[in-house]
Amino acid sequence: MLTIDSLHAEIDGKPILKGLTLQVNAGEIHAIMGPNGAGKSTLGYVLGGRPGYEVTAGTVTFNGEDLLDKEPHERAAAGLFLGFQYPVEIPGVSNVQFLRESLNAQRAVRAEKPLSGAEFLKVARAQADALGLQQDMLKRPVNVGFSGGEKKRNEMVQMGIIDPRFAILDETDSGLDIDALRVVGDGINRIMRRPDKAVLLITHYQRLLDYVRPDRVHVLADGRITRSGGPELAQQLEREGYAEVAA
Ligand code: ADP
Ligand code: MG
Ligand code: MG
Repeated sequence: MLTIDSLHAEIDGKPILKGLTLQVNAGEIHAIMGPNGAGKSTLGYVLGGRPGYEVTAGTVTFNGEDLLDKEPHERAAAGLFLGFQYPVEIPGVSNVQFLRESLNAQRAVRAEKPLSGAEFLKVARAQADALGLQQDMLKRPVNVGFSGGEKKRNEMVQMGIIDPRFAILDETDSGLDIDALRVVGDGINRIMRRPDKAVLLITHYQRLLDYVRPDRVHVLADGRITRSGGPELAQQLEREGYAEVAA
C-alpha cells in the first residue's frame, strides 16, 4: 500500500531524512519508534506534503501511484490521514464546519456527492459517541481550549469521520492518561484495523502498543530505519533504550 524507497528530505537545507526505506501492506499496523529529533514527525509531514519539507531523493508510492507528485489535498482525497503530535487550534471555525468541509472536499475530488448538514451530523455524532467526546465539543472551535486528552479524542473523531485508508498518527498517545489511552487505542483498532487499511503509528513509548498491537516495529534514528522487528522489539526498546538497541 505504501512503499518508501531511499527517501531523503531536508528542511531549510538541513538533511533530516537520510535514505529511509519502508513498506507497509494493506491490513498492517506498523509502529515507528525512535529518539527525539530522529525525524519521525518529519516523515509524517513529508508524506502529508507539508510545505517547507523538501524531498531531495527517493520515491514514495501509495496504492501504486507516485505520492510525492500529488498536492496535499489530493493525498488526503486518495485516503491519507495525518494525526499530528500537536493538533492545531482553529479559532472561529467549529469542529463541525471544519470536518464537514474536509470530508466534502475529499468526496468532491473522488466525484462523490457532498453530505448534507443533517447527514453529516449523524455521522459526526456517532463518532463522538464512540470516542466518548461530549456532543457540544463538535460545535466548539477546533481544538480551542481542549485539554490534551480531548484534542486526541477529537483527532480520533476526525479520523472516524474521514474514514481514511491510511493513517499516520504522530504521538497520538502523548499526554494521555490511561483511560484516554484505552479510548484512543480502541478507536484506532475500530476505525483502522481492517484488511483494506493500514496505519503508521509514531510513538515514543511502548504503552500505546499494549492497546494497538503492531504487526511490525521499526526504529527510526538519524533519518533512517536502523532496525525492524515484531512487537517484541518495542518491549526491548523500552527495557534497554534506543542507544543500546539501535545505535
Ligand atoms: P522527531 O519527531 O523524531 O522528534 P522531528 O522530525 O521533529 O523529530 O525533527 C527532526 C530534526 O529536524 C530535528 O533535528 C529538528 O530540530 C529538525 N527540525 C524539525 N523541524 C524543523 C524546522 N522547521 N526547521 C529546522 N529544523 C527542523
Ligand atoms: Mg519529538
Ligand atoms: Mg516528533
